[in-house]
Amino acid sequence: MDVTGLPPYDDANVFAKILRGEIPSRKVYEDEWALAFHDINPQAPVHVLVIPKGRYCSLADFSAGASDAEIAGFFRAVGHVARSLGLEAPGYRALANMGDHAGQEVGHFHVHIFGGRPLGRMIQSARG
Ligand code: AMP
Repeated sequence: MDVTGLPPYDDANVFAKILRGEIPSRKVYEDEWALAFHDINPQAPVHVLVIPKGRYCSLADFSAGASDAEIAGFFRAVGHVARSLGLEAPGYRALANMGDHAGQEVGHFHVHIFGGRPLGRMIQSARG
């Protein structure tokens, strides 16, 4: 169990492999706290993922278990990446899926940054 009571971090997840350099990514930004790279299956003209360097499964795990420095460093990196991609003036969406109901696929905490066009409604209606 991690600090949230959910299953533990799996070092074989695809983002862990990207962090270790075992599989390639199209890197956008990297610093002490975060790595950002293009999503392999983009859902908008700009679709970038920002991940913390630490071993955190999800937003629940990260918010409960990461240090203040990790949290500050990570979210500063999210803002920096969006700014550096020229997304601030037109606007963008930052989103984190957490767990089954959100459809989280990769068990390493990540924030999606979407931009490059008007993004429509925030979520699909429950009726589809
Ligand atoms: P989520 O559903 O929030 O867990 O999102 C996982 C995201 O990771 C999806 O948008 C995938 O397209 C993306 N993804 C999966 N494998 C890779 C990869 N090797 N490189 C870049 N993005 C990936």
